[in-house]
Amino acid sequence: MKLLSQSAFRTTRDVSDQITDRGTRGLLQAGYIRQEIAGAYSFLPMGLRTLTNIANIVREEMNAIGAEELLLTALGSKEHWTATGRWDGLDVLFRLNEDGERPYALNASHEEILTPLLAEFINSYRHLEQTIGLYQIQTKFRNEPRAKSGILRGREFLMKDLYSFSRDQAALDVFFEEARKAYVRVFDRIGLGEKTHYTFASGGTFSKYSYEFQTELEIGEDIIHICENCGQSHNEEIVEKNFKCVECGHEKARTTKASEVGNIFKLGTKFSDAFSLKYRDETGMDHPVVMGCYGIGVSRCMGVVAEFFADERWLRFPESIAPYTDYLLVQGDHMDWAKSLAGNLEAEWRSVLVDDRDARFGEKIADAELFGMPNIYILSDTAKASDMPEVRRRFGA
Ligand SMILES: [Zn+2]
Repeated sequence: MKLLSQSAFRTTRDVSDQITDRGTRGLLQAGYIRQEIAGAYSFLPMGLRTLTNIANIVREEMNAIGAEELLLTALGSKEHWTATGRWDGLDVLFRLNEDGERPYALNASHEEILTPLLAEFINSYRHLEQTIGLYQIQTKFRNEPRAKSGILRGREFLMKDLYSFSRDQAALDVFFEEARKAYVRVFDRIGLGEKTHYTFASGGTFSKYSYEFQTELEIGEDIIHICENCGQSHNEEIVEKNFKCVECGHEKARTTKASEVGNIFKLGTKFSDAFSLKYRDETGMDHPVVMGCYGIGVSRCMGVVAEFFADERWLRFPESIAPYTDYLLVQGDHMDWAKSLAGNLEAEWRSVLVDDRDARFGEKIADAELFGMPNIYILSDTAKASDMPEVRRRFGA
């Protein structure tokens, strides 16, 4: 259990009126995040616990489809970014020392790093009997002109990026479907499943569409059209003048704002061609490796969840990602009771924050709600008389 009296950080009501998003206001007021520069945020302990919980759910689901985790560099060479044409072609790329002796990039994506690296390890069909999946959870940098307040669209953000390497298109298609299902599980587990839509989008370089996971959100930056007949979602960008469902041909749709929490692409051989990532088949013929890439904005997901669930009493986090599942509000001389209750809860793999501060009840309950704790236990003289803490649940019983 963690004692709140030991924390360096405090809640505040003093947040700029310019910040109107409920989620961002809540995260700032609760002391989860602090802005350093536009589009770049520090995660304070409570924010980091939430972020880590989301990252661990993503990690479990990636491991479940056989992907291996690694950690690539945040700095990338100009040589590799030039080989794919993206040193000049990717407008959001942070290019450092551009005219200097050793120019390099702050990586916005990692095809340029991982593809040449794998050329050292893959050269035979024997290496690709199974599709290889490699992923990392790492800070990404994008020189985003539209950096918004909050962690929904940043210049520096935490992302999970998975890359797949297959011997042919058919093998990629199989892995792609496994990854899609894993994404559905991730968004279910962090509480966004019901309102997150697998969405056809434009911009697929190697297939007709790219695919996004879009969560319905009032402050979302995208617009999606959801077919009234089959439920298929389409990004506004691909919809011609009049809506026609690409899945069933129906012409009526519900239109809503949404925020993109993930995307998956079939890359084909663009990057393997650029870095000569190829394998020799059973007959001695060389073929380029067929690739896919799969992103989840981990810090953005935290921003979306914060915004999505925030109620009039500010933040509200589902148990799966809340910094602590249980908040013990101790009012009066009941620390022994708190310790014993915390012990019982922790024995069930729950996490406990004890508010042992010498403060008024009103202040403590307001903080408990602001923090978004799903379960609040009030340990007071009244509760002690009946030997039962009063329990308040933010998501119903
Ligand atoms: Zn349809």
